[in-house]
Amino acid sequence: MIKITEIKAKSIIAKSGLPDSDFVINPYRGCQHGCLYCYAKFMARFSNHHGPWGRFLDVKINAADLIPQNTNKYKNKSIVMASVTDPYQPMERKYKLTREILTKLIPLKPKLCMLTKSDLIVRDIDLLKKFDQCSAGISLSLLDDQIRKEVESGASAVEQRINALKELKKAKIFTVLFMSPLLPELSPWPEIILKTKKFVDEFWFENLNVKADNWLELSIWLKKKYPRLLKKYREIYFTKNNYWPKLKQQIKQFCQNNRVRHQIYFH
Ligand code: SF4
Repeated sequence: MIKITEIKAKSIIAKSGLPDSDFVINPYRGCQHGCLYCYAKFMARFSNHHGPWGRFLDVKINAADLIPQNTNKYKNKSIVMASVTDPYQPMERKYKLTREILTKLIPLKPKLCMLTKSDLIVRDIDLLKKFDQCSAGISLSLLDDQIRKEVESGASAVEQRINALKELKKAKIFTVLFMSPLLPELSPWPEIILKTKKFVDEFWFENLNVKADNWLELSIWLKKKYPRLLKKYREIYFTKNNYWPKLKQQIKQFCQNNRVRHQIYFH
């Protein structure tokens, strides 16, 4: 049972704290996808929701009205949608906030970057094509849909996301496969690259940011399902080691060998 609350936001375009981006837009607060490892769980503290992450969603019903018109402020500036929620919530089918926001953004000519774990993004291909600069990023770091159901229970299935990338590419939109977060031994990154490189323009890689409120839930799940991995994750995340620099090198080499464009955003 998901608690949906309609709220009025005071502003909708915020300065970005993310690398390579100027602004962010989050049409919702909370996220129905409810990923175990979600680094945005801290957002619950900014609302009156005390239930588990994934079980509440604040809908900023006036979001599109807050997009200014007749301004050059965002021209050629990068706008990421979204950073602490997913712009394609299941509820987006009903509310269409993301669709309305996109419509209002087109004349502002920003450099748009969409990031989602939902195949609902294909609904908006007609709008995405109207941006001069647009990248459509699908986040995918698992291939086993059984694991996906446990870890990213509300997000689209693996094959649906892969099909969304194919559709976006077919529409000549710049496609990004965002492997975030790369989960040691659970994310088969070389296989994902080989399976999708024909219709992915660029691969991005990010590891899990365990500084946020997300370790507890993930560690409980690991303990139940993969006790051996829990030990390994503790070593990787909480002891001095060179796991990530080594992996970074391996990814770089693999991408070069396979001639795929890539960016690595390891914390
Ligand atoms: S889709 Fe993104 S914002 Fe939503 S729960 Fe998953 S990681 Fe968090």
